[in-house]
Amino acid sequence: MSTPTATTVKQNNPYQNALQQLDKALSFLDVEPGLADVLKKPQRELTVHFPVAMDNGSTRMFTGYRVHHSLVRGPSKGGIRYHHQVDLDEVRALAMWMTWKCAIVNIPYGGAKGGVVVDPRQLSLRELERMTRRYATEISILIGEEEDIPAPDVNTNPQTMAWIMDTISMHEGHSVLGVVTGKPVDVGGSQGRVEATGRGVMYAAREAAHHMDMPLAGTRVVVQGFGNVGSVAARLMAHYGCKVVGVSDQYGAIYNPRGLDVNGVLDALKTTGKVGGYQDAQPISNTDLLTLPCDILIPAALENQITAENAEQIQARLIVEGANGPTTPEADDILNKRGVFIVPDILANAGGVTVSYFEWVQDIGFFFWSEEEVNDRLRAVMIRSFNDVLKIAQEKSTDLRTAALILAVLRVAKALEIRGIYP
Ligand code: NAD
Repeated sequence: MSTPTATTVKQNNPYQNALQQLDKALSFLDVEPGLADVLKKPQRELTVHFPVAMDNGSTRMFTGYRVHHSLVRGPSKGGIRYHHQVDLDEVRALAMWMTWKCAIVNIPYGGAKGGVVVDPRQLSLRELERMTRRYATEISILIGEEEDIPAPDVNTNPQTMAWIMDTISMHEGHSVLGVVTGKPVDVGGSQGRVEATGRGVMYAAREAAHHMDMPLAGTRVVVQGFGNVGSVAARLMAHYGCKVVGVSDQYGAIYNPRGLDVNGVLDALKTTGKVGGYQDAQPISNTDLLTLPCDILIPAALENQITAENAEQIQARLIVEGANGPTTPEADDILNKRGVFIVPDILANAGGVTVSYFEWVQDIGFFFWSEEEVNDRLRAVMIRSFNDVLKIAQEKSTDLRTAALILAVLRVAKALEIRGIYP
């Protein structure tokens, strides 16, 4: 991989990308400039530096963040990411995208995000637990059942959420189930939450394919990232008759034009820790994966994967963004000009936050639903939201990302206008 130049680093700053996308949507709208400025800034940003006792007796300092972009439509909501490249601008962008996402699926939440600068693979399980509990304590001045509700993101999972819920519950002296979502079902989690984001991606892909008159049977799919979102999306796309021809993880990619056995890849991942452990495929680079011959591309890893450098070579006709921010604004322009249909992150991966909302509703009502009920409601939300966005795209003759942002900005700006500016 070539070393990024100063310009590419600047261009690929996720917060600058998020602002650029917002400006494009605002150009279609008559939002008062003062209100538009409110939407551009995160409401609160917390940086924490905290010590953790390591297994060998030493003390190590960690840095973490929690950003609230907007609380205007309700408590803020957004995942927590553990990654060595987390920084404040990334968290700001992810928090802003959460605001839009919640507004698009019309759930009563604002947007937030958190992150810790860490490669969790370098820590033991006990160290990870101590780090998580201390981070939760540091950000406890912001999070809460009615204030701000975290969820899993890259390298965090139901166990991480259980530790956070337990930490906050110990502080409060009673169980506070609704302080985080994405928990294990045994401690107030929802049926269907683990699969929800990938399942939502599948619904979004199905709706888009239907709109494009693209039958799913035999359609070639490539999935970048094989974690919570990517692996579930791949499995469900295969279940609905697609041929998953390529997948990747951070260690590399695999390709088989005849189709991969997705369950076989999952087994290989379990036993070897890498998708590359699957034998019936050709190993390829992560760069080559994105430009493979295919019909549907599902980026489900990190930001800035589809850029001005590879957008011309992408062969998919449909891109469904499982990841947040996988496409830079420059790549977006190139792909839109080429007629590639893109279902943007803030719509395509909104299934996760939708079922997180269902989990929170179940927690605060102490009344739990069946998996079938969760999935039925999720499907209804995804189909309705896709069609709401498509209608705006058609009315305004614009792409789906801009249409999704228009819908979100209208809803958030309306709430802001009705509430008024305090005091
Ligand atoms: P995860 O940690 O479960 O999986 C991430 C996957 O991406 C892993 O397979 C990892 O190996 C792979 N990966 C990392 N760097 C890569 C690289 N450079 N090239 C290829 N693969 C790489 O994370 P996740 O929860 O599946 O999240 C993936 C994306 O989806 C993120 O952008 C996240 O913000 C977004 N998202 C997640 C949820 C959720 O509910 N978990 C909801 C909405 C959006």
